[in-house]
Amino acid sequence: MLTMSKAVAVLQPTENRIIRDEPIANLLTDSRSIINSEQTLFIALVTPSGNGHIYIRELYQRGIRNFLISEAIVTFQDDCPEANFISVRNTLVAMQELAAYKRAQFHYSVIGITGSNGKTVVKEFLYQLLHHDFNIVRSPKSYNSQLGVPLSVWNMSDKHDLGIFEAGISKPGEMSSLREVINPDIVVITGIGSAHQENFSSFEEKLQEKLLLARYAKQIVYDADNMVINAEIERSFLHTGLFGWSRKNEEAPLFIKGVHTEGEHTEITFKLYKGPDQTVAIPFTDKASIEDVIHCIAVTAILKPSFFPKKAIYFSELKPIEMRLELKNGYQNNSIINDSYSNDLMSLEVALDFQQRKCKASGARPVVILTDIYESGLEPDILYRKVATLMRRFDIQYFIGVGYELMSRQDLFSDVSASFFPSTSALLSAEILGQIADSCILIKGARRFSLETVSDRLVRQLNQTALEIDLTALKQNVAHYRAMIPSDCKMVCMIKAEGYGLGAFEMARTLEEANVDYLAVAVTDEGKYLRQMGIRCPILIMNPEINSWDTLIEYDLQPEIYSLKLLNSFCEALSGHQQVEPYPVHIKCDTGMHRLGFMEKELPRLCEILVRSSRIKVHSIFSHLAGADDPALDAFTQKQIDTFIRMSGAISHSLPYKPLLHILNTAGIQRFSQYHFDMVRLGIGLYGIDPVTNGTIHAVAKLTSTVLQIKELPAGEHIGYSCRGVMKRAGRIAIIPIGYADGFSRKMGNGALEVYINGVACPTIGNICMDTCMIDITDVPELTEGTRITLFGSPEVPLQTVAKIMDTIPYEVLTGLSPRIQRIYFQ
Ligand SMILES: *Cc1c(COP(=O)(O)O)cnc(C)c1O
Repeated sequence: MLTMSKAVAVLQPTENRIIRDEPIANLLTDSRSIINSEQTLFIALVTPSGNGHIYIRELYQRGIRNFLISEAIVTFQDDCPEANFISVRNTLVAMQELAAYKRAQFHYSVIGITGSNGKTVVKEFLYQLLHHDFNIVRSPKSYNSQLGVPLSVWNMSDKHDLGIFEAGISKPGEMSSLREVINPDIVVITGIGSAHQENFSSFEEKLQEKLLLARYAKQIVYDADNMVINAEIERSFLHTGLFGWSRKNEEAPLFIKGVHTEGEHTEITFKLYKGPDQTVAIPFTDKASIEDVIHCIAVTAILKPSFFPKKAIYFSELKPIEMRLELKNGYQNNSIINDSYSNDLMSLEVALDFQQRKCKASGARPVVILTDIYESGLEPDILYRKVATLMRRFDIQYFIGVGYELMSRQDLFSDVSASFFPSTSALLSAEILGQIADSCILIKGARRFSLETVSDRLVRQLNQTALEIDLTALKQNVAHYRAMIPSDCKMVCMIKAEGYGLGAFEMARTLEEANVDYLAVAVTDEGKYLRQMGIRCPILIMNPEINSWDTLIEYDLQPEIYSLKLLNSFCEALSGHQQVEPYPVHIKCDTGMHRLGFMEKELPRLCEILVRSSRIKVHSIFSHLAGADDPALDAFTQKQIDTFIRMSGAISHSLPYKPLLHILNTAGIQRFSQYHFDMVRLGIGLYGIDPVTNGTIHAVAKLTSTVLQIKELPAGEHIGYSCRGVMKRAGRIAIIPIGYADGFSRKMGNGALEVYINGVACPTIGNICMDTCMIDITDVPELTEGTRITLFGSPEVPLQTVAKIMDTIPYEVLTGLSPRIQRIYFQ
């Protein structure tokens, strides 16, 4: 393994100070994603958006001892007396050199993928096809940059026997460093489009740069029918190991004889090395996926000659890569394709192709909302002429252009039904979106136009009932509680039960941005889901199931251990896993609540096992208070805290290191400030509820719906099941699409809840039905059908009011809202 002194030898730094040589298992570039401090090298990157050197002292406090920096060591040495430092001219370059050094330790095959489109899809498809035969290490998501590639390659180990990495470039000169890091044996050149063209003087120049990846490769896989690529490759590579596939040339090592699409499937017939006809069937029909699959046929044939025909069946099991073309149902029978991944002509064409298929299948009208394009490398007049041609070719029924460049070239679109707006906000205020119906709407644009607001508008109106979640308020609540604790006190955010009903992933992503130290969920599957969605922050599992250990370990989740049985079974599970370091666990003590946790009399046995077990490390010891919000229970709470101090002391005492201690939940943070210890666990306060005053900090969740229908009724009419509602006077009622099946309890019926519309209180009338309810809107004569109203979560009707009516606590109101209510997030 690489050690600090070895790193000095590899990097030849300007200066270094190695106090104690240590192996380096982990690279850390983002101070927030620190998982464990041992054997970790922090790399202080300097980028236009930040300088990693400012985190060094904090990371030292958190236990990091190895730093790769580009400033003078003397700046930090006094504050970090025990730290090793290596100082180089450029930390990013040094990191690439370390990754290249690591890469050179392994001799199994490595595939490098480059090109403008399809890199991630080809990589993920190859993984799906080959993971039965190989232990594959690959780039996470689309980690393909100057920074992402070394981080990906760093994951190589002797457990693997195949590497698949993407390499993406945006400027000339970037590929040669990526090549040295990946050093691929097989290179795949996927679609070369016009993305990032602006930094290159010509298509050929960009292609030459990409081909640098293949300089020392044994095989290159590429589309030999593309004249430019073919010519360039034959010129630069003198025919060594060329695997060009072709639809025209039967002599090609992979000849694509036929592509036949039917329904949702495509059959590709091909010949390998002029052999017999073979076929694969794939569950895709779009051009881009077909091309990606052809690249995969080539690579599998090279890597594993016995793959065909035996394993051709795997192709039919390929799963689409959720990445860029996101399809949502919109309102007024619209569907929405969102593509903000890139904005260039080639990806526009790919998206139009996808849209056309959806329209053919559903009979919807194709509509396009497009912004100015910045990544084309073409003269604007030529570019937008091409865009207009595409609109005609794909028979777009209505085109909406956003941005000044498009707006000033309206005449190019004279034969397309089209509207133009200078900005996204101008489009939104024109209310034109509400007039689109029965259409498939492709939304595509440069990020700076924030087209997500357009797609939100189109989706929001459709979802008649929605829980609107304000992520800015969530962050403000974190700040509110952070201000109550000392700056060195850590924070766990509780996002169990789908983030108290609001959606665990969006909560996690926002909290990770807010730099919280830990997230906590109830069960392993919740943690696994967050990891799959790319959450990297440490995650605590409060209630791990004994049969979930392998998943827990695989996804790097940290278990709460609350019994000897659990501890023993976890240690046993660990013995089946290779580990570099002791696995972090959190010990829970029962101090009087009598839910989960070790009892005091079990401690001697617990300590005995902990001392003996080298496989685990106790990162924290904690307990939970039963009545921190209630002054009447203060004596009980104090007793719990005293017990905790005693119990945690006994455990800590037996360990050679010092675990973090924590006991306070939200109410505890507010009322027991002298017992913050090392960490606190924030739950309901995150969501804006102050459990002590029952007030609202910053409201995060608001339940909204629309008026489905309005009825005029004479006095005396009965309303709803069992005729419980009665019109006391002639008036109007509104029917709202939410009912008890959504978690809108029957207790809110018959006037118990008053909904505020335009500041007027409108009581529910009659019983709440399963999917609908009725409200008396006689006093709001201006209200019309289709209007959006707020049911609760507003200043007039806070969540606490609803909890009171339902005779429960706000926690239950939130977690009881049915998953079929769409969660909509905004900042
Ligand atoms: C849910 C939970 C919390 C958070 O409690 P709040 O009252 O929502 O702040 C803290 N600790 C544990 C162990 C929990 O289960």
